[in-house]
Amino acid sequence: MNCKKILFGISSWMIFFITAAFAVSCCTMLFVTTLSETLDITLTKENISVAAKLTFANVLLISLIFTVIDAIRRRLMVERPSKRIIEAGEKITSGDFSVRIEPFSDNHAYESFNSIIHCFNKMAEELGSLETLRTDFIANVSHELKTPLSVIQNYGTMLHSPDLPDEKRIEYAKGITENSRRLASLITNILKLNKLENQQIFPVSERFDLSEQLCQSLLQFEEKWEQEGIEIETDIADEIYINSDAELLGLVWNNLLSNAFKFTEIGTVSVFLIADEDYATVKISDTGCGISAETGTHIFEKFYQGDTSHAMQGNGLGLALVKRVIDIMQGEITVESEVGKGSTFTVKLKRGEVVGMEKAD
Ligand code: ADP
Repeated sequence: MNCKKILFGISSWMIFFITAAFAVSCCTMLFVTTLSETLDITLTKENISVAAKLTFANVLLISLIFTVIDAIRRRLMVERPSKRIIEAGEKITSGDFSVRIEPFSDNHAYESFNSIIHCFNKMAEELGSLETLRTDFIANVSHELKTPLSVIQNYGTMLHSPDLPDEKRIEYAKGITENSRRLASLITNILKLNKLENQQIFPVSERFDLSEQLCQSLLQFEEKWEQEGIEIETDIADEIYINSDAELLGLVWNNLLSNAFKFTEIGTVSVFLIADEDYATVKISDTGCGISAETGTHIFEKFYQGDTSHAMQGNGLGLALVKRVIDIMQGEITVESEVGKGSTFTVKLKRGEVVGMEKAD
């Protein structure tokens, strides 16, 4: 290591020596030739020998001074900031994403390093939030998996009891079926969201009747609204064709409608569709419990459940999926809601081809 440093010192000194020797020799030769020609002086061997020795010593001294100045400049302007960045980089590699580098106060002298430091700090911040998201995600998934699994385990254990009345046996079996369904839906949603986020699902663009699709989606909840006495209101414009991915959009209506029914105990669920030449706008409203302003800021986050009384009926992934699909379709989704009065989700979609979507065969 030390040997390398010495060799590096000598090589940088050699560069200055050669440069200074070249510059001084050229100047001296020019000066001496001009002087001897103008003054008509004849230079003797001794004169030249003395001048050459002096010049050589001069070159040595100048190059030495340059080398020292360069070494100090290098240490202050290059090695010191590089060391700071390298040390921070090593901390990041060992998993400490909280590290940040203090920028240099003399922005003029360290402009390039300050730009690198700025990018580095941003990268560390992004990595830190990704890490938090990853650990939160794992914690959420584990929690969501554990709850139905322990319920299944409990019902399973209770079913072992030999003299269990028939109605209890049916109740426990129902509990097992219901919780397995929850688990399956959780895993399906995680996989779907993962595929959508990693762009493993390539949305295909096909022309289809959005009016028809909305009616079909709504009809899937017929049993529910009849059982619970929920009123239905529709104002769906006829034959509104759009170019989009029907399957992914089906997922959107299904989630929005299932939430509208889930959060409405008595009241009305309404579906509206209007369109102009370029855009189709779908409104799904309910007169249910509504969403508070605080909850409203989180509803599109993964695993977020604002209303814990309905937690068992979902997993907090529905609206995250909806948002992802709408983003892929380059559409817009907005929510208006008032606690105790209900909520309206509005989805605005382009009717024409969306850039980046493949055409269906
Ligand atoms: P979940 O599966 O829990 O319903 P979502 O992602 O679909 O998860 O919804 C997230 C949260 O948004 C819900 O827990 C609830 O607090 C709120 N929310 C969504 N839709 C409605 C609605 N129509 N009325 C009231 N709250 C809603």
